[in-house]
Amino acid sequence: MLSGKLKLLPARLSPSKITGVAMSSSTTSQQGTVIIWFRNDLRLKDNPIVHESAKLAQEGMNVTPCYVIDNRFLAHPSTWGTPKCGPFRASFLLQSIMDLKKQLNAIGSDLIVLVGKPEVEIPKLIQSLQSSSTTILTASEVTSEEIAVENNLKTALKLSPNSKLKLMWSNTLYHKDDLPYNASQELRDMSDVFTPFKQKVEDKCQVRRPLPTPGPSSLPLPPELMSSNDKIDVGKVPGSVEELNAILTNQGEPVIESPPPDNNSNQNGPDPRGVLLFKGGETEALKRLKYYLWDSDLLSTYFETRNGMIGGDYSTKFAPWLALGCIAPTTIYDEIKKYEQQRTANKSTYWVIFELIWRDFFKFFALKHGSKIFHSNGIVGNRRTNIKQWSQDALLFQKWKTGTTGWPLVDANMRELAATGFMSNRGRQNVASFLVLDLGLDWRLGGDYFENKLIDYDVASNWGNWVFAAGLTGGRVNKFNIVKQSKDYDPMGEYIRLWCPELGKVPPPRIYEPWLMSREEQEKYGCVIGVDYPVAVTVKKVNGGGGGGEKRFGNGRRGGKDMKVGRRSDFEIYG
Ligand code: FAD
Repeated sequence: MLSGKLKLLPARLSPSKITGVAMSSSTTSQQGTVIIWFRNDLRLKDNPIVHESAKLAQEGMNVTPCYVIDNRFLAHPSTWGTPKCGPFRASFLLQSIMDLKKQLNAIGSDLIVLVGKPEVEIPKLIQSLQSSSTTILTASEVTSEEIAVENNLKTALKLSPNSKLKLMWSNTLYHKDDLPYNASQELRDMSDVFTPFKQKVEDKCQVRRPLPTPGPSSLPLPPELMSSNDKIDVGKVPGSVEELNAILTNQGEPVIESPPPDNNSNQNGPDPRGVLLFKGGETEALKRLKYYLWDSDLLSTYFETRNGMIGGDYSTKFAPWLALGCIAPTTIYDEIKKYEQQRTANKSTYWVIFELIWRDFFKFFALKHGSKIFHSNGIVGNRRTNIKQWSQDALLFQKWKTGTTGWPLVDANMRELAATGFMSNRGRQNVASFLVLDLGLDWRLGGDYFENKLIDYDVASNWGNWVFAAGLTGGRVNKFNIVKQSKDYDPMGEYIRLWCPELGKVPPPRIYEPWLMSREEQEKYGCVIGVDYPVAVTVKKVNGGGGGGEKRFGNGRRGGKDMKVGRRSDFEIYG
């Protein structure tokens, strides 16, 4: 890793590997250098900052791609005390960085991998490159902690003459500048309700065409990285969470937690009940896209299958790759359009695009509302009239987290999340509704736990969905009737049985409501309540809960003491 002193690595790129690069070191230093600071856009295909760098390279600049592993987003605790990133996502991240490095190597470039704070490591890198001027290109982020790092870097760059940070929009389906809203004023006129947003963007905007992927030699490295007697260590991507932990330990940093023991199969390794063996990186993302569209035609039945909970095929599973930007939503869109032309266009093919618009909605919603999406009272804030203190009952929350509430659908989903880092959209909606509207617990506890666990954690999508689930956006509140949802979406109880084996012999309809079993039934099915399976926690009475989450509750029914600052606004304290 590059930290402190820059040192020589044995394996490095030789100039011969970068043939066809029309530049000399003197030209290069005159034209300056571009640092591609990859963040949540770990891909070469359809990537605005990579494309821009290739253009600048044609003007004679050289290009240094880098990634900074920032432990403030990994093992550091959130303000709730939970480590920000669990082992599943950390491992997916390392695989994605590794793949990006391979992609860059294949076109004669490389990826410098650093462990530390971007605002410290990037200025050091600039110094070692000794270029006449440096432009750092990075993709814009929309949430407070990520923006705080950008600002910290901007401040640090004041000490590096002739260097500047340039932010570019990336990673949404619709480009921010194309929106029919006032982008210069943080989209203040954007609707807070999804349907009008969707209708307006579909009416008024076009999805931009994918950008070309850079070809061989199009991102020429600077001489300091090319020559054999150079001084810069390009760094090695830690091959595993254990390897990263060893580096973090050396730096006196907290380490990433271990994966949970596999209590289902007695095997080491991933839980075989998981929906998919997620592997990070652009290569795998493109494979998944090909599989879901062209190899299996699953795209053509997405609308019918999307509410499933078992296996890899019921939904796209694009989310983990989208979250780290291993694939661009515009690439997915473009491929769907090709599929519609060549195979079939139907409600299902449209519906994946519809879901990608939801994803956009949350990004733009976060941009518009800033830290309010983390506030106890959400964006409704002081407009609330019935503000109450959220409960933070530790025992109840523990039961929710560990899947021991005695409510089988909730327990099955929470156990899946803990064991694999993934949960279906159907599951997420149910467990979120249960936490907030049935248990009356602080919704931010749920958002914080998901942040740690989800392999597809995305700040805007996660906190946006949670603040909506808590009914704190001024729109409708969806309360899910857990028993009805079990009957509708797990009619044979297969999903519950998969994750709650103690209910294995309990048939429907009792499997949805095991507390209704008589003593004889409990013995017959080998599941004594309170012994083999937990007694159900008592849920609060909330009037009018609907089975399909269609009930409208106005401005939300629960609230919390409003905080002056959001949970992420104290980010600088880690410094
Ligand atoms: P598909 O059903 O195949 O959908 C295709 C893509 O559309 C997804 O990959 C995703 O990028 C996008 N999408 C679909 N639904 C939503 C949605 N409601 N909000 C935003 N994007 C959506 N999604 C995340 O990517 N990261 C999160 O951290 C996250 N946290 C969530 C928390 C809660 C409480 C809830 C209710 C939902 C959350 N979601 C999150 C949204 C959704 O559940 C996941 O995107 C989806 O389950 C991922 O599986 P998939 O890729 O197979 O999705």
